[in-house]
Amino acid sequence: MSTQTPESHPYRGRFAPSPTGALHIGSLVTAVGSYLQARVHGGDWLVRIEDLDPPREKPGAADRMLRTLEAFGMLWDGEVRYQSRRSEAYEYALDRLRREGLTYPCACSRREISERQNAGGGPLIYPGTCRRGLPPGRRPRAWRVLTDADPLQFTDRIQGHRVSRLDQECGDFVIRRADGWFAYQLAVVIDDADQGITEIVRGCDLLESTPRQIHLQRLLGLATPDYAHLPLVLDEHGHKLSKQDRAAPVDPRRPGQALYRALAFLGQSPPSGLTGAGVEVLWAWALEHWQLRRVPPVGGRPDQG
Ligand code: GLU
Repeated sequence: MSTQTPESHPYRGRFAPSPTGALHIGSLVTAVGSYLQARVHGGDWLVRIEDLDPPREKPGAADRMLRTLEAFGMLWDGEVRYQSRRSEAYEYALDRLRREGLTYPCACSRREISERQNAGGGPLIYPGTCRRGLPPGRRPRAWRVLTDADPLQFTDRIQGHRVSRLDQECGDFVIRRADGWFAYQLAVVIDDADQGITEIVRGCDLLESTPRQIHLQRLLGLATPDYAHLPLVLDEHGHKLSKQDRAAPVDPRRPGQALYRALAFLGQSPPSGLTGAGVEVLWAWALEHWQLRRVPPVGGRPDQG
């Protein structure tokens, strides 16, 4: 956890969507939660577009998301950062890990790894095949970072105390992908540190990535921010809403309605008198009443409205 004092590091939060589709109520909840946390602390709120996965991206999605945030009255501080323009910084970090012998090239395909793992599902755990060098005749594909069996602990401000064992959850994980793009885990750590983020408020689907990110922060000598993982909005089948699955986009022409739903989903109990209110009124109420401790750890279906 962070040992920073509020005086030396004023609050800085961020919203970091991948431009894989339009903002839906799930991503709006994350935007609203991170925005309110930042604003009630008198801090900055940055927006970073995590465009490191072209096959999953939709043309124009980043711009549409930014316009939607504006329509909701969520104005960010500074320039929007695009991860696709940050390869030099990621390369530098990879080099440093390489020089310290903490990363290695790997020849294994996903298929080979899953074939080696016993049947029975569960997460793919890299068995360390290329740890001591590539098998003869094999070409490097991805880069993996070394992990160990030490329990890694952190306290999430919503989800509570967590203990992880990376060797049992994922093993040595990919920081540069076989297609040449830097992996989310590395890029997010470099940018959160470079942008001075003091607290990360994001969806609970990323809770299991957090130990990997803390591991990388430690290897690279970077501060660990505070974490607050928000409950997930689920569809009628109990699955996370996904932009790629074309979850209904929020309607930027009626932002008040979606903002009210997001605040209710986040456990803030906006008064029923505010249904139908415009975003200015809702923000004024939310900025006065927002409390992270009222956010429920587990999500579900949002109220319709
Ligand atoms: N880009 C990630 C996503 O849209 C979020 C990353 C993060 O908040 O750390 O799922």
